[in-house]
Amino acid sequence: MSIQKHIPSLYIHIPFCISKCIYCDFNSIVMKSQIVDEYLNAIESGLQAINGKYSFTTVYIGGGTPTVLNEIQLSKLLNIISKHVDVFNLKEYTIEVNPGTLNDEKIFALKNSCIDRVSIGIQSFNDKYLKLLGRIHTAKEAKDIFSSLREKGFEDISIDLIYGYPTQTLNEWKTDLRECLILDPEHISAYCLTYEQGTPLVGMTDSGKFKKLGEEEELNMYEHTNDFLGNKGYKHYEISNFAIPGKECQHNTVYWENREYIGIGAGAFSYNNGERCCNIKDVKEYISAVKAKKNLICFSEKLPQEKRASEILIMALRMTSGISEKEFFNRSGCNLTELFGTQLNILAQAGLINFDDERVKLTRKGLSLADSVMMEFV
Ligand code: SF4
Repeated sequence: MSIQKHIPSLYIHIPFCISKCIYCDFNSIVMKSQIVDEYLNAIESGLQAINGKYSFTTVYIGGGTPTVLNEIQLSKLLNIISKHVDVFNLKEYTIEVNPGTLNDEKIFALKNSCIDRVSIGIQSFNDKYLKLLGRIHTAKEAKDIFSSLREKGFEDISIDLIYGYPTQTLNEWKTDLRECLILDPEHISAYCLTYEQGTPLVGMTDSGKFKKLGEEEELNMYEHTNDFLGNKGYKHYEISNFAIPGKECQHNTVYWENREYIGIGAGAFSYNNGERCCNIKDVKEYISAVKAKKNLICFSEKLPQEKRASEILIMALRMTSGISEKEFFNRSGCNLTELFGTQLNILAQAGLINFDDERVKLTRKGLSLADSVMMEFV
């Protein structure tokens, strides 16, 4: 009998969406129904290949938009997963949903699987900005879907929000946060709008159609988020993530703590035995490679120890709990102060990090300037 290796997390990528949002640079395509079934077969082959080799603590079905699958396809996906993964013994089983793609039948299918956590991409409660982003749902539809999920018994729901839209005011963002809390989610991710090269958003900004908000306005929104959610009982546990204590996302914490994960699907990353690799991104090419039993990996790397140590520190500092010298040594095999003592001292003097309880963590000021702080360790 072969011995199963424990890998903390399994990620399954569903790369289909109804249409592309203008800011999106995720590996997703507009769904063409004829390839969905072939893609699900490819996912099954991937899961078959690891069946019996690994046990997992968390599973995360992300996208794209997993719930763009129709009721039959969604049930097929969930059945494939439970056939090859011990879903009964998971500590967390999440699916990402888009409010414009759910209905009672699909919620029923989710409830009938072992899924216990739903992450809803709402982004804004203001229809003006939902339209601007190219989202396929209204604020009312998002609220209704949230209520349906609650009524059907989901007790762990996360809401994704974005702030910092062109022309958005702090007051509008305050209203968004208040609307969000009326729903009483267990977890909130609040990211500042990013301008990724190659997206229509960047094209529209370059052509003068939109004007990016100033850094100070973005910062005011970030700081208000931290204060407001903190005062309402949400733990600010990662730069952009907030949770009722005990409801932090275990799956994403695996990434931030540089622990191992397996990714199944087009463009999915894995990190196993010190090696990080990425599957073929193009959905059709991925399906063809699976069918032809060809190598699915389009990129892999094993970082040298010092680079890996730098990555470990950067990821760990995303968490507000930071990292202790001992944890850093256990994860990287390197001594924290020997490797980064100079940078840590300079950043501490600038009030950007501190060493409370022998842990290195970002201060409040450091959280606001996290990108610049992290650059010091690259
Ligand atoms: S729904 Fe999500 S993955 Fe799909 S296009 Fe919009 S942002 Fe991208």
